Amino acid sequence: MALVGIARLASESPLLEAKRVVQYFEIPSKSILNRTKPTMPFRWTINPYRGCEFGCKYCYARYTHEFMEMDATEFEDKIYAKAAAAHLLRQELARIDRKDGIAIGTATDPYQPAERRFGRTRAILEVFAHNRGRHIGIITKSDLIVRDIDLMKDIARANVFGVHITITTLDPHLARLLEPRAPHPDLRLDAVSKLSEAGIVVGVNPNPVMPGITDDEHSLDRLAKACRDAGALTFGGGPLFLMPSAQKVFFPFLEREFPHLVERYRELYARSAYLGRDYKDVLAARVRKIRDRYGLVSGMVEYKPEIWIEEQGELFEDNA
Ligand code: SF4
Repeated sequence: MALVGIARLASESPLLEAKRVVQYFEIPSKSILNRTKPTMPFRWTINPYRGCEFGCKYCYARYTHEFMEMDATEFEDKIYAKAAAAHLLRQELARIDRKDGIAIGTATDPYQPAERRFGRTRAILEVFAHNRGRHIGIITKSDLIVRDIDLMKDIARANVFGVHITITTLDPHLARLLEPRAPHPDLRLDAVSKLSEAGIVVGVNPNPVMPGITDDEHSLDRLAKACRDAGALTFGGGPLFLMPSAQKVFFPFLEREFPHLVERYRELYARSAYLGRDYKDVLAARVRKIRDRYGLVSGMVEYKPEIWIEEQGELFEDNA
């Protein structure tokens, strides 16, 4: 039957805009702890989700969706929550050395919007809250992390525990361009304050530092000062790593928003996804100087937890 009236008009209307639709899936996993390369500062990583809704233009983890035969841009629209994450973790922790460092959120954000609904990160923290004598860190851009301060306080009493909040810039306009759906920088700074007030060791990483966009000394200095004032103890910056899957999103973004930088970036990343030694050395010296200015340190802060065990650890382990 031919459409008439408003039905016909509707069917012929040109599309003005299509709203993003995010789809959530549950994916089975063989394991939840992933072993890192020996050069990394931690031995194991945990990423409760595959894909990340924050959609940062520079995100290096987009390649993980290519493993599933998906386009790099689907990384932010198809989010996979790992099934039985807490159950797997309990089993796998029993098999690894207690001294091994474990970092949560190295590839995708553990406090992205999916976490509000599926709670995989909280379930993992509940497991760690029954552990003793481990070294555990979390990396996130999200102020949702403050929801779990209760669990983090328990973990930090019996394990060396720290949080790294990523803030690339204090400029809200620039942050919106670079990280379209990540929380506003002020919300992240507020999360730093709340974690610090709760006695949690917290630091800020301005990563990735982007040449010509976020790497000038004045911006990094302003950021480090604001972080120190909010209670951060650490500050560490590394340069942008741009593998081919990330370049597919980042270069069109540069062409749109920073056309004057396109040629420079093409030269910088012509031979490798990593920047050369010269740039790295200059940036490292700049960040070190800023850190010293504000009494900040790099890396994870070691401290002796209230309840601490070493060799006799097994006696205290609660694998409930
Ligand atoms: S928050 Fe991290 S994982 Fe998520 S899109 Fe941004 S860079 Fe990628």
